[in-house]
Amino acid sequence: MHAGREKLSDLGVHAPPIDLSTTYPFSDLGAAVESLEALASGKGSVANPIYSRLLNPTVARFEEAFAQLEGTEAAVSFASGMAAMTACLLAARNEGKSHIVGVRPIYSSTDKLLTSGYLGFDATWTTADGIADAIRPETALVLIETPVNPTIELQDIAAAAKAAGNVPLCVDSTFASPVLQQPASLGAELVMHSGTKFLGGHSDVLAGVVACSEEWAERLREVRIFTGAILHPLSGYLLHRGLATLPLRVLRSQENAQVLAERLEAHPSVSRVFYPAVEGCDPNQLLERQMAGPGPMLSFEVEGGFDAANRLMQNLQLITPAVSLGSVDTLIQHPAGLTQRFVSEETRASGGVSEGLLRVSVGIEHPDDLWDDLRTSLES
Ligand SMILES: *Cc1c(COP(=O)(O)O)cnc(C)c1O
Repeated sequence: MHAGREKLSDLGVHAPPIDLSTTYPFSDLGAAVESLEALASGKGSVANPIYSRLLNPTVARFEEAFAQLEGTEAAVSFASGMAAMTACLLAARNEGKSHIVGVRPIYSSTDKLLTSGYLGFDATWTTADGIADAIRPETALVLIETPVNPTIELQDIAAAAKAAGNVPLCVDSTFASPVLQQPASLGAELVMHSGTKFLGGHSDVLAGVVACSEEWAERLREVRIFTGAILHPLSGYLLHRGLATLPLRVLRSQENAQVLAERLEAHPSVSRVFYPAVEGCDPNQLLERQMAGPGPMLSFEVEGGFDAANRLMQNLQLITPAVSLGSVDTLIQHPAGLTQRFVSEETRASGGVSEGLLRVSVGIEHPDDLWDDLRTSLES
């Protein structure tokens, strides 16, 4: 609520100003050179921002607040979650290493980014148990995601950090938000989020952010300056505002998700519910060890595959069929047809993504309204 809002009273305002300047006037060339050199080597705070691709004060306020939420020294934001992921990979390669160990399943664009070879990385895909064996001398980064999209399985963060040894661990923590888990406290060096989801929370901001040590932040800022995938100041303002209500939104959505998971489980047209609190979904008891709750994301399988899933979504009146997640309103989508489209059929199948699977990002509406909509649609 209060982080990143320091010195507002000194400015005579209550809401943080949105600074849209692209350039910042200087009065002394020597001081300007000093600021520019500090920024180019990744420093996050200088006397003069010089140029807004290097630093923006509105965005910096959001980053400061976000770092406090994740319990890290710093945070660096980007134009999208994928820009943040790309920056993590490039910052890790600074040491001349270009091998990545990734645990599947993982967000499908991240999977595609690495398998495509766009960035020149060599990726080894493995399971959580295979991390230690997959590591080579030239491994730059170990990459995991938890909870996993779209089956909401949990990965053991502390065990992954241990298996990674000296290789840094990057955790995509988008589905949990910092309200439900803080991977840095479990050994992750880089905690990456798509800010587009819970942090923005209203389906109107595209963003990414990485929480980390100041040392990593300097590398990430350098990558950001020279690749240019910066966050727009208006988005920085909206994300910062979003943080003020983040716990309320996440916890209310989670309460609703618990109600829906229970009712879906008891419904005869639903063959399976994927939700960490549902029996059998969290075999290693990670929910208690690393999360403050099962979260707002759930998936379920209907009998009748693609056509049944399509009909169910067409009959909904309140819940919106759309990709993305983490919004105040409830969204539903079909992973096999949409969000998992960028990975091969085998990868989809081994990740438990069937044609009857639907993923729900539960919002903050009244739970009875949500259930009425789902039940009516299931029954028709
Ligand atoms: C959405 C998402 C991303 C990518 O973020 P964008 O903001 O869409 O670029 C990465 N990881 C996860 C888990 C996501 O849900």
